[in-house]
Amino acid sequence: MKKEVKKVQITPRRRFFTNIAQSASLGVMGGLIWAGYAEKAKGSTLTLRPPAALEEKDFLRTCIKCGLCAEACLHRESNIDKETLQPRPATLKMAQAQDKATLGTPYFIPTQVPCYMCEDIPCVPVCPTGALDVSSVTNEQNELDFSMMDMGLAVVDPNSCIAFWGIQCDACYRACPLLDEAITLEYGRNERTGKHAFLKPIINMDICTGCGLCEKACVTEKPAIFIQPRELALGKPGDHYVKGWDEKDQKRVASQTGKDMTTRTQRSEEKVTDYLNEEVSYD
Ligand code: SF4
Ligand code: SF4
Ligand code: SF4
Repeated sequence: MKKEVKKVQITPRRRFFTNIAQSASLGVMGGLIWAGYAEKAKGSTLTLRPPAALEEKDFLRTCIKCGLCAEACLHRESNIDKETLQPRPATLKMAQAQDKATLGTPYFIPTQVPCYMCEDIPCVPVCPTGALDVSSVTNEQNELDFSMMDMGLAVVDPNSCIAFWGIQCDACYRACPLLDEAITLEYGRNERTGKHAFLKPIINMDICTGCGLCEKACVTEKPAIFIQPRELALGKPGDHYVKGWDEKDQKRVASQTGKDMTTRTQRSEEKVTDYLNEEVSYD
């Protein structure tokens, strides 16, 4: 069943308390703002940051390690586990000396506690420095929108995912809050047996938020689906490559170059087989 992506308005009351929290922490922390990070006690490029975090380099320069995001996460309104009816532990932790993340910075480990993609995203607006950028999760209607979160990207290891072996498993698929959008099941014939089907989980990288609920739900000993920061999970084609069929990509180039990029490659009316057989003689 497809879950509708709900949108939450930033109410004047929430904005009011947010502003208070931000001013208060700025006041308290004003004298303590770190002049950049000269030292990384322990850094890891694999660290997953809270929703709406700036790019890692900028995040490390901007986060003052106040812990307000982790506190908001712990006290989120939807913090009751539906099965146990107990409060859930916070997703966000502040890194300690023994952790891989830079000391004192917020991060999360999906196999321990994933991000529950709270509708009101309470961890983001409380950030006093903009290390968590509210605008990156605010939609055109000026509403906080959890579907715009971008903590990382789920990656499937086809060698260890048992669905790729032909064994029926849809644990990750069912755990996804953006089911049938961020993750879909691709049907395929199992040529090895000739009579079974594959149902392979496929990630839509434009929609997946990197919440980690799928990684937490994975049934294999070490999760066959796992979250990576996007800069590690994805390649980069270079700005000079333009997708002629993608309006968004054309706008990107137009805004950079000022050139009209609206000329698209015309779709051929020929069938692919005609094209492939062109100039082939069977004499
Ligand atoms: S959106 Fe995720 S990180 Fe933020 S408060 Fe909710 S569970 Fe915590
Ligand atoms: S991300 Fe923002 S709220 Fe969280 S610890 Fe850093 S400065 Fe504080
Ligand atoms: S990380 Fe997994 S559960 Fe979360 S949106 Fe992506 S595919 Fe869905």
